[in-house]
Amino acid sequence: MLSGLPDPLISAVPTKIIAVANQKGGVGKTTTAVNVAACMAAAGHRTLLFDLDPQANATSGLGLEKLEGASAYRPLLGEGSLQEKIQPTAFERLDVLPSEVDLCAVEIEMVRGEDHLKKLSRLLEPVVSSGAYSAILIDCPPSLGVLTLNAFAAAHGILVPLQCEYYALEGISMIHRVLEPIRASGVNPGLELLGVVMTMFDARTKLSNQVVSEVRQHFGEAVFETVIPRTTRLAEAPSFGKPIIHYDKYSAGAAAYEVLTGEILRRIAPKPS
Ligand code: ATP
Ligand code: MG
Repeated sequence: MLSGLPDPLISAVPTKIIAVANQKGGVGKTTTAVNVAACMAAAGHRTLLFDLDPQANATSGLGLEKLEGASAYRPLLGEGSLQEKIQPTAFERLDVLPSEVDLCAVEIEMVRGEDHLKKLSRLLEPVVSSGAYSAILIDCPPSLGVLTLNAFAAAHGILVPLQCEYYALEGISMIHRVLEPIRASGVNPGLELLGVVMTMFDARTKLSNQVVSEVRQHFGEAVFETVIPRTTRLAEAPSFGKPIIHYDKYSAGAAAYEVLTGEILRRIAPKPS
């Protein structure tokens, strides 16, 4: 960069950190994190996908191998920085902080000091202040353990995918239960529920429609207008290491995630003062 001139790659807008979470397994967290991150990047926003789940599905879904030592594990235990773990992907403007199975040991090994929930938040500070990203999406594991709570402590908002199935509401009631203590304890007073996205919607079933209307009654405007359909293309894409917009650009799944990303970008845009 020429000194004195602003670097066009460095965003003037503060980085937004979004935790994609639901303690229920298999509801579409990783699919949502990978595809929203890819759509944000494709829309011109420099985006970091932070894989915080030891299963490392987001890492492989973006075409990266799960490599020992590549994750946030060591930095969370006090060795090294997160920046040195960030890797580029094959997709423009999209970087990844990969995961690997070792990360699960963090739950046990992280010293439970008074501020053990703020570890991730502090490690992310230099990444945020570098201005390198408009958004950081954190793919959380299916639990409300130390890793997820660290993501909540670092995030501006939580994005909750809910599967269109009978027990959908269980996932969100737990999140509501931890949201308030996280705010009230001062760990993260500004934490917001960014929104709820209904996933794996099957228009042919009565149940899908019933669940969506029940969830809308409960959560009103917190629920995104866009509903993600159940499609095989979305389920196939990760095995090719590609987000849906790069795997099958004109599919229903790609269209749904593009429209959802538009809604999310409007919600996180700085409000005019
Ligand atoms: P975990 O709790 O294990 O991390 P998760 O909440 O991250 O799971 P995903 O991995 O995104 O959930 O999705 C679970 C499974 O459902 C995966 O095999 C995924 O490919 C598939 N899937 C997710 N969304 C859709 C969809 N809209 N249509 C079809 N299959 C989907
Ligand atoms: Mg997952």
